[in-house]
Amino acid sequence: MYRRAGAFALLIGGVVFAQDIHLKTRTLQGGSATGPTGDTTGDTDTATVHKIVQFDHAAGADDLDSFSRDGITVVAALPDNAVVVAAPGGQLPPRPGVRWIGGLQPSDKLSPLLGLAFQQPEDTAAVIVEFHADVTAGQQETVGGAEQVALLRPAVLRSNHALVQATAAQLAALALHDEVAYLFPADPALLTDAEAIACAGIASNAGIIGQYANIVHGWSLDADNAAHLGYFFSSVTPKVPALTVQSEVVRAFSEWAKHTNLIFQPVAIASSPRTVTVKFVSGAHGDPWPFDGPGGTLAHTFYPVPINTETIAGDMHLDADENWHAGGDIDIYSVALHEAGHAIGLGHSDKPGDVMYPYYRSHSALSANDIGAAQTLYGLPDSGASAAPVTKPANPTGSGATPPAPVALRMVLDPGPASTTLSGISVTGTLSGGTAPYSVQWQTDHGSSGKALVQTSSQAATSFTASGITLVNGANAITVTAFDAAQKSTSEVATVVLQAPSGAGPALPVGIKATNPAASVFPVNGAFLTVSGTATGVAGISRVTWQTAAGASGVAAGTDHWQASQIPLLTGTNTIVLKAWDTKGNSAWTALVATRR
Ligand code: ZN
Ligand code: CA
Ligand code: ZN
Repeated sequence: MYRRAGAFALLIGGVVFAQDIHLKTRTLQGGSATGPTGDTTGDTDTATVHKIVQFDHAAGADDLDSFSRDGITVVAALPDNAVVVAAPGGQLPPRPGVRWIGGLQPSDKLSPLLGLAFQQPEDTAAVIVEFHADVTAGQQETVGGAEQVALLRPAVLRSNHALVQATAAQLAALALHDEVAYLFPADPALLTDAEAIACAGIASNAGIIGQYANIVHGWSLDADNAAHLGYFFSSVTPKVPALTVQSEVVRAFSEWAKHTNLIFQPVAIASSPRTVTVKFVSGAHGDPWPFDGPGGTLAHTFYPVPINTETIAGDMHLDADENWHAGGDIDIYSVALHEAGHAIGLGHSDKPGDVMYPYYRSHSALSANDIGAAQTLYGLPDSGASAAPVTKPANPTGSGATPPAPVALRMVLDPGPASTTLSGISVTGTLSGGTAPYSVQWQTDHGSSGKALVQTSSQAATSFTASGITLVNGANAITVTAFDAAQKSTSEVATVVLQAPSGAGPALPVGIKATNPAASVFPVNGAFLTVSGTATGVAGISRVTWQTAAGASGVAAGTDHWQASQIPLLTGTNTIVLKAWDTKGNSAWTALVATRR
């Protein structure tokens, strides 16, 4: 089932592959320096180290085979053209076609949604620890023990997931372990409710894709700015009448199509391109992921091109051995609604309650966050470039006969402030190249989304303003996607930190920032640390306090400009939470991790 077509296309067609690796926390520019690769856990020379290896082509069977010959385990796929591997001793012998080798930084492992849960250093939150796929239960326990957090294992959890109730400092410390891949909010229902069922993850030719990946590849748009997809039922479960199975799955497709510019139509041939072929199959069924009988894995779905090649791209496989029902457990519609999200190119959400959260619940509709994610890829329903509020009339024919653009569509986002105390902001930028008219959509990773105002003042300059962007406390990734009239799109991400406590009522702006050292994770030689930085608060800062995970605490000198001295460090990892208080008792915090050699 591994396909070599991607590499082949590179040779014969000169296909340019995107270079960026999109994580939820940041976009890695493959090929450029990114600093140390996260080996800060004091691994011995024989310990396994997880690395990201990016190829200059889609990793094919030859690439995957060459890893196994070297004793290296591929633990996940990571678009674009990258895999995550477990390398014994961190040794990665050279191999052809490798563009870049790097690693997940500790900060890449903390979901942007986690900051919302903490106001006080002692506050805890229920969090799922995703371990890399090769990490055994025993190794997971060792990591939990090292940070003194109990790993809870409700039966519904995937074997590489554990549930912890932890402080921000404990999460920062867990993120330093090489075995840990990602930390994201736990759905409280996982603790009490056996109804949730794990999604096995999303298949690509090179493997399952991790929760830390930010999937940005949807199907390309057709000439009318919609993505037209086919569907075909190649086999259905005999447990439910065939027409009911089909209507439930089609109802799931329709729920997505209702909110975004997707059009699903039945096709007559399973191998048609741009088609979701739906199969109920048992056990081994011709791809590298055999089903496991009743329970366990319910389904898996293959991402669109270019992550997968035709004709497996978009296909939805459901385990025929499950006790399928329409409207009861196991509910075909709920599972198909989630899997259809994968078929159109959506990854797993970190937000409990979303259909795209990695544990299936019984769902009747999409969440705002699910809808926003789909609209980032496909725009609003029945809207295309022609619906954008441009100052001159759009091409009235809409015939799709627009000549090809001589220059690629390009977007420049204006670098606004990296942090703000305003909960509603605007982002501006400019567009060039491509084929006018343009439309621009935006979406945050916290469910706020909308359409930007596009203004063409002259042939050379098109600017846009995305306003009314609602931020939540902590980091907000704002994905701005521009579409042109020739089905091309381009996206940029701006990250803005809202510095405010998450209390009720209007945002209360307090901010704190360490400036020396400025890094959130850094090595230290001595037994004591001094940190300085700034704090801001509309009501005036009254004090800045610090606390270490080991229990030491104190008050920093100064307020707007503060210095915390004589912070005692243990050998190894030390997490320090710094907190600024305003005169009205509002606060904000930031955490640092110092590794004492
Ligand atoms: Zn899933
Ligand atoms: Ca199963
Ligand atoms: Zn399959």
